[in-house]
Amino acid sequence: DSPELAAVILSSTIDVPDFPKPGIVFKDLMPLFADGAAFKRVVDGIVEHYGADSFDVVAGVEARGFVVAAAIAYATGTGVVPIRKAGKLPRKALSATYELEYGEATLEVHEDAFIAGQRVLVVDDVLATGGTAGAALELVERAGGTVVGFTVLMELAFLKGRERLSPRTVHALLTV
Ligand code: AMP
Repeated sequence: DSPELAAVILSSTIDVPDFPKPGIVFKDLMPLFADGAAFKRVVDGIVEHYGADSFDVVAGVEARGFVVAAAIAYATGTGVVPIRKAGKLPRKALSATYELEYGEATLEVHEDAFIAGQRVLVVDDVLATGGTAGAALELVERAGGTVVGFTVLMELAFLKGRERLSPRTVHALLTV
């Protein structure tokens, strides 16, 4: 993709050492979200990569994925489906549980979130180990959506999320 876009993301991200736990370097993308010009370029870059006609709905992973998903949806006249952490959705939901470094986590989506065969672009901010993404993609398919892609602003290559998700493909605007 675009080295220029990768540079925009790199320059508007702040590394926060030891958050939320000792040894983790948290990639804080909130300065990017707060910068209108940078945020617009990132959203437009994702839309250009897939093509505005290639998906019908955008699924965002709680919570920072919601920010990007909503912007992509608005830019393309599509809709947003939230993939939420356990216990937040008001109606009947499907759940997927996955392993974290310590313990496990659960994501959920409303069972009627998609029309059968609807083309779904799945979005999150950062790809780390790929556990979150794997659960999100599984939920979209179990709810009847057709995954057309998974995209993140930043991929942490050393955690090998891309390999864990194989043969699914990952689009990352920046890989570090
Ligand atoms: P994983 O399931 O390990 O791929 O983790 C990805 C999810 O956790 C995404 O929703 C990210 O927002 C968040 N995440 C994991 N590691 C980081 C990190 N170092 N910096 C920022 N967000 C992270």
